[in-house]
Amino acid sequence: MIEIVGLTKSYGAITAVNNLSLEINRGEVFGLLGPNGAGKTTTIKMLTTLSKPDRGTCRIDGFDVVKNSYEIKKRIGIVPQENNLDRELTAYENLLIYAMLHQVADLEQKIAVSLLMVGLSDRKDSVASGFSGGMQRRLLLARALLHEPSVLFLDEPSIGLDPLIRRQMWDVIRKTKIEGRTVVITTHYIEEAETLCDRVGILSKGKLIVLDSPQALKASVGEYVVEHINAEGKLIQHICRNREEAHVIARGRDNGVTIRKTNLEDVFIKLTGERIE
Ligand code: ATP
Repeated sequence: MIEIVGLTKSYGAITAVNNLSLEINRGEVFGLLGPNGAGKTTTIKMLTTLSKPDRGTCRIDGFDVVKNSYEIKKRIGIVPQENNLDRELTAYENLLIYAMLHQVADLEQKIAVSLLMVGLSDRKDSVASGFSGGMQRRLLLARALLHEPSVLFLDEPSIGLDPLIRRQMWDVIRKTKIEGRTVVITTHYIEEAETLCDRVGILSKGKLIVLDSPQALKASVGEYVVEHINAEGKLIQHICRNREEAHVIARGRDNGVTIRKTNLEDVFIKLTGERIE
């Protein structure tokens, strides 16, 4: 349903996205992971018509993001990294304007449902500038879902959210998937990617270096990690194929040694030598 072929974007000498090709299936939650500057936001901007690729194509539901931008805008919802709410207006007014622009039918009911979904019904008439950062992000999510898009793009949806609200946001994303929508998400939160995503693509310096389910990626590098602190106080990690190997490596190391399951950050470090930050 989303087909990306050879997508490339440069800013001067920096190639932010380099020949990216991948397909995202209908109804899947797809995660784009990578360190700062890997090209995640640039990719999302091209997929959502906000930035024009230098080369390559992207089609959503068969529509080209450059040539058919009107059709694309009807089909996508966006939660951007930066807050672009109208801060002088109330939550309701922000949603009303968006609903009118998108010619949403039955808009009063849709606004009420979307506010309820993100837990802001009781703040409907409060001005957005008085909202906390977390509340503003929830309002952005309510707005993005108002016209019932077939694809929802979320650029760092959990930034600045406390753990409880983050989990509520995850519930909304899961519900979105259950409703049959496709979700594309960029995130630095490993737990978020592992919990929500059916498949994850890891970007490094604009290139897709690996793409698979979180489970398959973890299994590909090894299932367990042994961690201990060395004499200089540095954290040392060994990725092991299985629990037996982990126990062999842990034996004899008494300085705060722990054995834990591999996570996506371990995959990333193993594949790129970088840490996700
Ligand atoms: P982060 O995790 O920090 O949000 P990212 O993976 O989303 O990073 P991008 O924002 O896509 O990365 O940036 C990729 C590269 O492109 C970076 O080197 C960045 O400096 C550069 N870049 C992005 N937008 C612009 C711009 N408008 N002008 C110049 N360079 C840009």
